[in-house]
Amino acid sequence: MVLMAEVGEEATYVRHHKRKIAFLFSAMRHFADALRARGVVVDYIRLDDPENGGSFGSELARAVERHRAGKVVVTEPGEWRVAEMMRGWSKDLGIPVEIRSDTRFLCSHEDFELWAGAQRGLRMEFFYREMRRRTGLLMAGDKPVGGRWNFDAENREALPKTIDAPRRPDFPPDDTTEAILGLVAQRFGNHFGDLDMFDYPVTREDALAYLDWFVFVALPNFGTYQDAMRQGEPLLFHSHLSALINCGLLDPLECCRRAEAAYLDGDAPINAVEGFVRQIIGWREFVRGIYWREMPGYGARNALDARRPLPDFFWTGDTDLNCLRQSIAETRANAYAHHIQRLMVIGNFCLLAGLDPVEVQEWFLVVYHDAYEWVEMPNVVGMILYADDGLFASKPYAASGNYIDKMSDYCRSCVYSPKVKQGEGACPFNPLYWDFLARNRDKLSRNQRLQRPYATLDRMAPDKVAAARRDAQAFLTGLVGDGDY
Ligand SMILES: Cc1cc2nc3c(=O)[nH]c(=O)nc-3n(C[C@H](O)[C@H](O)[C@H](O)COP(=O)(O)OP(=O)(O)OC[C@H]3O[C@@H](n4cnc5c(N)ncnc54)[C@H](O)[C@@H]3O)c2cc1C
Ligand code: SF4
Repeated sequence: MVLMAEVGEEATYVRHHKRKIAFLFSAMRHFADALRARGVVVDYIRLDDPENGGSFGSELARAVERHRAGKVVVTEPGEWRVAEMMRGWSKDLGIPVEIRSDTRFLCSHEDFELWAGAQRGLRMEFFYREMRRRTGLLMAGDKPVGGRWNFDAENREALPKTIDAPRRPDFPPDDTTEAILGLVAQRFGNHFGDLDMFDYPVTREDALAYLDWFVFVALPNFGTYQDAMRQGEPLLFHSHLSALINCGLLDPLECCRRAEAAYLDGDAPINAVEGFVRQIIGWREFVRGIYWREMPGYGARNALDARRPLPDFFWTGDTDLNCLRQSIAETRANAYAHHIQRLMVIGNFCLLAGLDPVEVQEWFLVVYHDAYEWVEMPNVVGMILYADDGLFASKPYAASGNYIDKMSDYCRSCVYSPKVKQGEGACPFNPLYWDFLARNRDKLSRNQRLQRPYATLDRMAPDKVAAARRDAQAFLTGLVGDGDY
């Protein structure tokens, strides 16, 4: 007997993006149908079932009673909050509850602990090499295929005007998804985000078709233009598979094996395939390991003492900084932004502006269709905000407007200019960058990888530094935010 329940509490403990809720509930209903077609008995509780008590606990207790169950078997959850809940179930229900490990990951908690041991600065690169050896992906004996572990240096090109983003297949809603879209609009209408033009896969078959499309059409250019951004093109050559992998419609290893096969067949270059494999068996597994190792307490870290409330424009998109306006508008429309938009536009802004890590975490958890605490939290706390004091990032990812200008066309349609450093028309990222370095000098100036920016700051005329800091303060004072959404 398989129990599945759509529960209100999980959709509202933070007010998730409407599209994320619709995707997950629709994928659940389709999965229940697929199980039934295989002869599995499924007890499925719909959100609008009048008896639905609205939480995992209530629905499990009702089901145990209904079926006179002698034992419950569950998969471990992706969030500490739910793991805490599960720990109490056996006592509450008076029957054994077996919590099984999650097969959507390749590295168990025990293996991660064995690898991490007593190391202080945990580096993804070394963990990744270990995972390559363990899986045999892109290995020739005990050596990496292509002679190098990492081809990242070849994956930082801006996108030339002559190259278009490929047209993607779409997966129009069937009757099940249409019903869910109606339900979500009715029940969660006040949540952030749009539901229009929903066309994401919600079945195993469609997820596999999307993976194949990615491997044959987008993957060849994925590596080279991985860091590029273009206005009006939210996906470029990215896989758009994270939500499908995280919810279990695709298996991480099968995604990597298909990419590896494309390389071996000569259909995709090594820098693309290695880059894709690294994101999945490297970053994805690594951040999950960090999350479970550092919880509870990780979400409260605030090494740079950042206290500014999240500005309202994170919810409305109403800002004249074009890069942020575009990235937030795409997030609202698609519940998706690609990695560089998350890291170097939105994340970079959060870091430079000194936004409160707890408020930033909630935003990232709400707005993306692939967001669960195990992956969102380390990416926010460790990667973008450096709030864990460099537990795994060797330096903060801070950048001025030049970086965004180099990697995108956003600046061309902006009221500001990245070339103007101060005063009227200056890109706000420029003074914010110097203000960030000056403000955090005590905490960051001894970092080896920040020696160059600090040397540049020290060479700047004092009146220029003072002017940049005044501009930054004026900008920051103008930000309005009351934390409501
Ligand atoms: C601040 C911030 C928050 C993020 N929050 C999430 C989140 O809630 N959920 C999530 O799945 N990813 C998150 N990421 C990681 C990454 O941005 C997304 O996985 C990626 O943008 C998803 O798009 P894609 O499938 O097109 O990825 P691609 O660019 O095609 O990459 C391939 C796959 O690699 C994996 N991956 C890549 N980078 C990471 C990473 N840093 N951490 C974990 N997995 C990674 C994903 O499974 C992804 O599908 C976050 C990154 C940042 C900087
Ligand atoms: S000028 Fe600055 S604010 Fe405007 S798009 Fe470029 S980086 Fe963003």
